[in-house]
Amino acid sequence: MTTQKKVLGVYGAGSEHWVGDGFPVRNLFPSNGVSSEINPFLMLDYAGPSHFDPSKRQHGMGQHPHRGFETVTIAYQGSVSHRDSAGNAGTIYPGDVQWMTAASGVVHEEMHAKEFAEKGGTFEMVQLWVNLPRAVKMSSPRYQGITAEQIPTVTLGASGKARIIAGELNGVKGSAKTFSPVNVFDVELKAGDAAEIALRAGHNAAAVLLKGSVVLNGSQLSGEARIATLGREGENITLVASEDSKLLVLSGEPINEPVASYWPVVMNTQAELVQAFEDYKSGRMGHLA
Ligand code: MN
Repeated sequence: MTTQKKVLGVYGAGSEHWVGDGFPVRNLFPSNGVSSEINPFLMLDYAGPSHFDPSKRQHGMGQHPHRGFETVTIAYQGSVSHRDSAGNAGTIYPGDVQWMTAASGVVHEEMHAKEFAEKGGTFEMVQLWVNLPRAVKMSSPRYQGITAEQIPTVTLGASGKARIIAGELNGVKGSAKTFSPVNVFDVELKAGDAAEIALRAGHNAAAVLLKGSVVLNGSQLSGEARIATLGREGENITLVASEDSKLLVLSGEPINEPVASYWPVVMNTQAELVQAFEDYKSGRMGHLA
């Protein structure tokens, strides 16, 4: 017998701010106080949708380090170019996903792609941070540039769909390689669609509404940039859309290890944090060419 996951709370963005000069974001956790209940996820920023005028230069976030976790960037509108000190580089376009494993550490930059900067247009992305288990925090960095064509789709309800970025739904496996069990589903529903999504008991879960109006296991989510957190017990969620809706469904096995974090670094102890910043300052996380 399957049971419904219980909605723990519904929240709006806790802060609105710029990341560099390229990403005007609404933060959907942890600035609103949502944190341990969505372990192994650490952070989610919803950038845009916002208009950028044509420009002679690229906007974005210049060189900065990361260690101990993964950054996942999902492009909806506009394009972003990444390059890092591990020698990886790539540009993602609408529908594409960049799954960047910082692990032992990278220095990278994330900029509007050159052609987007020159032409201007509407920019809309999500960046999600996923924690890594202690055992792999100091493994080698990795970069997965996943194109829209590589992401399988599962039909939901009469006319809805879920793109399986990571994890598994109805036997369909997602594109991204992950270090712990994680589901990231990019869901679109039309008004009137009712969809059942099978997650796992024991996993933390959340639904992030980018835009629209849905009832999720009895709780209403409407407007833009809302998040509902779900309990570990039970497996299923039911979404009933009363407007065309766009959302991300996230779930994952909790990583039950201590967290010591300071902005771009997420480790297990204070000593590891200090070490990370020493390694960055002394160039041991590498340099951008
Ligand atoms: Mn970054």
